[in-house]
Amino acid sequence: MKSFKTQSKRVLDLMINSIYTNKEIFLRELVSNCSDAIDKLYYKGLKEGISGLTRNDFAIKIKVDSEKRTLTISDNGIGMTAEELESNLGTIAKSGSLAFKTENAEEIKADDISVIGQFGVGFYSAFMVADKVEVYSKAFGSDSANLWVSKGTEGYEVKPCQKQDNGTDIVLYIKKDTDDDKFSDFLQEHTIRSLIKKYSDYIRYPIKAEVTKYKDLTDDEKKEGKQRESYTEEETLNSMTPLWKKNKSEVTDEQYDGFYKDTFYDYEKPLKHIHVSVEGSVNYKALLYIPSKTPFNYYGKNYEKGLKLYTDGVLITEKCADLLPDYFGFVKGVVDSELSLNISRETIQQSRQLKLIGSNIEKKIKNELLDMQKNEREKYDEFFQNFGLGLKYGLYSSYGLNAENLKDLLMFKSAKDGKFVTLKEYVENLSKEDKFIYYGTAKTVDAVKNLPKSESLLESGKDILCFLDDVDEFAIKMLGEYQGKTFKNVLSEDLSQNDDDQKLNQENDGILQEIKNCLGEKVAKVKLSSNLKSRPVSLSSEGEITLDMERVLSTMPGGVEGVKAQKVLEINPNHAIFEKLKKVYLEDKDALKDYAEILYFSARISLGLEVDNSAEMTDKIIDVISK
Ligand code: ADP
Repeated sequence: MKSFKTQSKRVLDLMINSIYTNKEIFLRELVSNCSDAIDKLYYKGLKEGISGLTRNDFAIKIKVDSEKRTLTISDNGIGMTAEELESNLGTIAKSGSLAFKTENAEEIKADDISVIGQFGVGFYSAFMVADKVEVYSKAFGSDSANLWVSKGTEGYEVKPCQKQDNGTDIVLYIKKDTDDDKFSDFLQEHTIRSLIKKYSDYIRYPIKAEVTKYKDLTDDEKKEGKQRESYTEEETLNSMTPLWKKNKSEVTDEQYDGFYKDTFYDYEKPLKHIHVSVEGSVNYKALLYIPSKTPFNYYGKNYEKGLKLYTDGVLITEKCADLLPDYFGFVKGVVDSELSLNISRETIQQSRQLKLIGSNIEKKIKNELLDMQKNEREKYDEFFQNFGLGLKYGLYSSYGLNAENLKDLLMFKSAKDGKFVTLKEYVENLSKEDKFIYYGTAKTVDAVKNLPKSESLLESGKDILCFLDDVDEFAIKMLGEYQGKTFKNVLSEDLSQNDDDQKLNQENDGILQEIKNCLGEKVAKVKLSSNLKSRPVSLSSEGEITLDMERVLSTMPGGVEGVKAQKVLEINPNHAIFEKLKKVYLEDKDALKDYAEILYFSARISLGLEVDNSAEMTDKIIDVISK
């Protein structure tokens, strides 16, 4: 008996005593080795013009012998010579799958096994479920066959054996059941069937198994109470051609939708599917879906984004997160790429190709969404209603790094008609002289319309974007401007000042200063603004921090205290209240403080801002009007 190299032994030991729960992937590994072996022979045949090798003759077969507790996986591929058995299976370091680990074999710890298992563990995964493995193999074109046999870490033997045809039979002697693992499951027809469906459905060669079937009973037989007779029949367990590898014209909407529902467990059909086939600097096919409803935990911490990743029809991982940016995390789908053969399955994560595919997919999604926005507006509105918030967070959380990708996808409700408008549409309606994109922050469109200065803006024909989500203003700060137009909060202090107001403010400096003194630190300034139209009083802000930003920051978990807006109390000089104030200022300076406080309080309330002294203030109002 030959022993494995020390490094190999260590890895093998881990595999055998694996605490790794996903033992079932051994079947995926062995089946994909079979598929590779057939590929090799098929291509050799093509290259060397060997006759008699037709694609239809190739198959992978699975056979169960419950009595002997064996599971046999066979292929009629290229096979291995004695030397190849020795070098491919005798030294783990030679195996592509584990090469990366053996370099650091000293550091391999028990829990590393989950890292290995994530992408594939190769041939040795057989030892997770079997205590003895036999490999009968006959290389194509060779006269003799050989048997490689091993019971695990002890070592292995290679000796001549009898085998009729080229290819490889791998016989697994399935382990006895333990308290933790029911290995017998792997001898069950339905387990095999479901594992093949789950992991290897799209392998390009048929995976056949003898399955049990039952003869139908005639009515008479049923009456007699006869039991149905069973018989076995060879059946192909995999569908072989995945939907995404077909031409778009070959696939119906129903098939697209059905695949989505089956694969991603959604009851609703998707809002849209995106079927792409890319050839060039990267090669991949993808079938992507936008769900029609927001997944219940989409905005929660535990939501896991990702696409199913296949290479060459073999499932590598259920959720490859690297393929999607967070803000497109709602996309479900499958990516199949012929990643170059020398990339072993584990290192795919870091692969440059994968990154390229990811950024390519990102572009595709963006373009599809823009296309939907242009040509299927109702659908896009629905999409944005569900996932727009995530796009805005994407813009905000990347400090605007994703601005180019996201800015054209954004929409806000228009104060004019309550419908969604894109930034582009808003700007298209502006004249050359217009410098600003106006927005108002509030809970509803009506509340934005009711903001003090909305009235005069809307009357002058301007539209106002309604920022209804807390993140909106922060996200837009990351953009700063759009097509040369600056974003402007309608509650900014410097919103459309006119010369008359300036004069008026100078003339009334005394009273305004006095009101400011009454309010102390609460406001930075008090001024007269005739653009308040019918409203008596309002608050605005100067500088970077707006009133709404102050509100949002103070309500954030772990609150950002002390970030304050520089508030300006604005009084309408055309409202009766101004005459009253002037009177009080001249006649009863003490009473002016009450008036100032009531004005400030009312302004806050009318903007929906929080007040912390409501009882005191309402009493004050009653006092004043009782006089
Ligand atoms: P990987 O497939 O990642 O290279 P494995 O440990 O699964 O690593 O397999 C090691 C090698 O053994 C393969 O690269 C291949 O050369 C050979 N091999 C495994 N299974 C078969 C098979 N069914 N037919 C022919 N060669 C095989």
